Amino acid sequence: MELMGSVAESLDSAAFSQGADLNVFGWQQTLASSATCTGIGVHSGKPVTLTLRPGSANSGYVFIRTDVAAHAQLIPARWDTVTDTAMCTKITNSQGVSVSTIEHVIAALAGRGVHNAVIEVDGPEVPIMDGSSADFMELIDQASLRLQHHPVRQIKILKPVEVSVGKSWALLKPSDEPKFSMEFNANGRLANQSWSLTYDPDHDNFEDLLSAARTFGFYEDAQHLWAQGLAQGASLKNTVVIKEGQVMNEEGLRFSDEFVRHKMLDAIGDLALAGAPILGHFRGVNSGHGLNNQLLRALFADDSAWCF
Ligand SMILES: [Zn+2]
Repeated sequence: MELMGSVAESLDSAAFSQGADLNVFGWQQTLASSATCTGIGVHSGKPVTLTLRPGSANSGYVFIRTDVAAHAQLIPARWDTVTDTAMCTKITNSQGVSVSTIEHVIAALAGRGVHNAVIEVDGPEVPIMDGSSADFMELIDQASLRLQHHPVRQIKILKPVEVSVGKSWALLKPSDEPKFSMEFNANGRLANQSWSLTYDPDHDNFEDLLSAARTFGFYEDAQHLWAQGLAQGASLKNTVVIKEGQVMNEEGLRFSDEFVRHKMLDAIGDLALAGAPILGHFRGVNSGHGLNNQLLRALFADDSAWCF
């Protein structure tokens, strides 16, 4: 697979240049250059370096594990390479090489309107950074965007598709605009929160409204996870921690409804694994990584539910 942008994509027509500002022609976008950050894996607690690079048209999001043998490095980030959703979204290639916690960097790429990118990591987990997508948005800005002379194909939802587990459910239904709605209730441990967004990459509403919303967790659950050797890198630097209904982080919340905003950020990252932007309305009630992935599997199992 050719990953880097080819010379053929470097267009110089006047129309192309004029269209670049707002991408009025609906062309695919990738990064113009590369950008790197370092952090720790939230589950391993180990340092990891991540580099965003340009990806060729129609290649989507592809991870490269630089710490493994060359023949096994590539891991396409797609709904059908997702192998675990228990604590985060994890993808695995046919050689059994995986990368975990991909959702926040994918959400940043999708939220910024980047359709094709290579994401290099030198370990099994994307760095958690501050628990949100904010640092990845900054990386994308550092690398800046480049239009590619290939039209964006959207996945149009033709009829409702729904999945549920207990009281949690997720739904995709037809809509003329890409819409996301999420409700979050923590079984009385927190006040119920709901949120809705009509996505518009040209007005950066993902960046302004969602990208800074952080991962959150309950103090009581953290004790349990740590005892199992999980969430070794989790701390107040990268997670909003709630103890007996109170936020433990000194700085408090970034938004009064930061929890539901983060659930929506996660859903945007998970749904971006569809392989193309979805033209439809996503609705979730307490929908997490597992249901988000099941929803895509249910969608693609029914040819009459969608079209390009
Ligand atoms: Zn998350």
